[in-house]
Amino acid sequence: MTTQGTPQPRPGIMQIAAYVGGEGKLNGANRVIKLSSNEGALGPSPRAIAAYDGERAELHRYPDGGANELRAAIGAAFRIDPARIVCGAGSDDLLCLLTQAYGGPGTETIVTKHAFAMHPIYARYAGSTVVTAEERELTADVDAMLACVTPRTSLVLLANPNNPTGTMLPWPEVARLRAGLPANVLLVIDAAYAEYLPDPRCSDAIALVDGAQVNGGGANTVMTRTFSKIYGLGGLRLGWAYAPAGVVDVLNRVRSPFNASRPAQAAAIAALADTAHVEASRAHNARWRPWLVNALATLGVPVHGTEGNFVLADFAAAGCDAGEADAAFRDRGIIVRAMGGYGLPGCLRITIGTEDEMAAVAEAAGAFMARAARSLGAKERAHG
Ligand SMILES: *Cc1c(COP(=O)(O)O)cnc(C)c1O
Repeated sequence: MTTQGTPQPRPGIMQIAAYVGGEGKLNGANRVIKLSSNEGALGPSPRAIAAYDGERAELHRYPDGGANELRAAIGAAFRIDPARIVCGAGSDDLLCLLTQAYGGPGTETIVTKHAFAMHPIYARYAGSTVVTAEERELTADVDAMLACVTPRTSLVLLANPNNPTGTMLPWPEVARLRAGLPANVLLVIDAAYAEYLPDPRCSDAIALVDGAQVNGGGANTVMTRTFSKIYGLGGLRLGWAYAPAGVVDVLNRVRSPFNASRPAQAAAIAALADTAHVEASRAHNARWRPWLVNALATLGVPVHGTEGNFVLADFAAAGCDAGEADAAFRDRGIIVRAMGGYGLPGCLRITIGTEDEMAAVAEAAGAFMARAARSLGAKERAHG
């Protein structure tokens, strides 16, 4: 027996760059405006917080591993069969399980160029080869994705709307993608921002999951959702998948038995019931997202995409250095998300926050752009 060496992870794992989340602290700042992780602006429903508190005497009890009450509540809220829902510790958990179960060495997973960062990370963790499809104007391109298909393709991951681009494929285009993919390829529609869409149920994605179920035994499309965004429960970690029965069966075989905690299940049930809070959150976003887009446009800073509870502001397109803009925000205690890791170094992603927070962002951006204009003017005078 050899006693040499150290334990080694599977090949490929050390090539994965760890996810870097949005920062939450600034050195020396006493009041921080955190707009770096797309957390719901209004926070969770007071009823969700009360339900969470209500679990304090039961924390020694395991949760319901089947999340039966929660699945029933999700099913009722979105008019879908609870038997076709699987819950997880955030939709991240479900994305990880799906990439593991349907990917692996020798298979290929197609992701979009500016996909949510966890898509390629999970695919690599599974040992799959990641194939990146080019986009058109930062938007998923169905033809480019279909051109990536080979006999080794087993998975396609599509965030719709996508984070961080805020862009979205119209649902007929997603249907065209599905129709163009081989029946044995699993299409995962990551709909983390579904509740901000005009149809929060995401009926078109549901129809694709259902359609796949009936047409010729495809059973090959999954939708993932989360309580982290509009419901403001990111800290509790809860997501769900709506899937064909066969995929539900697979997920239930491989998931951790208690992957949705007791307080998370209780809070989520209460959050679903508080439709007024969800509506207020939707209305808030519908008001303040366009407001911020307009405020930035007035300063000459264009924004990509139209969806989600965030904006992707293109400071490079405004002739500025996004790193300097980021520093200017930080000087005022505002934390936004730098996009270098996404290959968008000229952009900053800014989450839609409260009215006060949006006013602070607009003011900081205005001061930065005025300073940038003055220094540009000074340079031009020096040269001219
Ligand atoms: C936030 C986000 C997720 C992860 O959500 P959790 O449920 O908190 O794990 C997944 N996909 C996209 C596109 C997201 O923006």
